[in-house]
Amino acid sequence: MVTMDISKSNSKERLSLYNHLMKKMKFMEEDRIASFKNWQYSESDKCSVQKMAEAGFFYTGHGEDDDSATCFVCGKVLDGWESNDDPWEEHEKHAPNCRFVNTHLIQDDYSVEQLFNLAEVVVKAHLTKSFNKKLVSINNTADEVRDIIKNQSSY
Ligand SMILES: [Zn+2]
Repeated sequence: MVTMDISKSNSKERLSLYNHLMKKMKFMEEDRIASFKNWQYSESDKCSVQKMAEAGFFYTGHGEDDDSATCFVCGKVLDGWESNDDPWEEHEKHAPNCRFVNTHLIQDDYSVEQLFNLAEVVVKAHLTKSFNKKLVSINNTADEVRDIIKNQSSY
């Protein structure tokens, strides 16, 4: 986990944090490709590693029988892939509001401006998700503290 005060960081540290976030979020196609280590489908299948990554998916399965893949933008998880499944079609069918799937562009066809806009969407979603996770944890701790106080005051 990266913990640092971004307001005190220099540009080199910021770039390194940015790169770390981009890798973690599987923003670049090459990082999504690298996530599919034991993918059961070959390059001739419709859901090849290349096609999966182009359509925004990275591998999130656990173990041999789990072919779960997740979209790096909308977070949709799809599994039960078959060799004839087209990743773009499946993505559109199950997550029609995804910003990535709506553009229907592969990474190389993005303009720099489009890439920055997409990065903004992905970073916002990522931060919202981790903020909400922390909020749940804070609320749970507050509940525990409340229970302790309640139990003590009943003596
Ligand atoms: Zn998506």
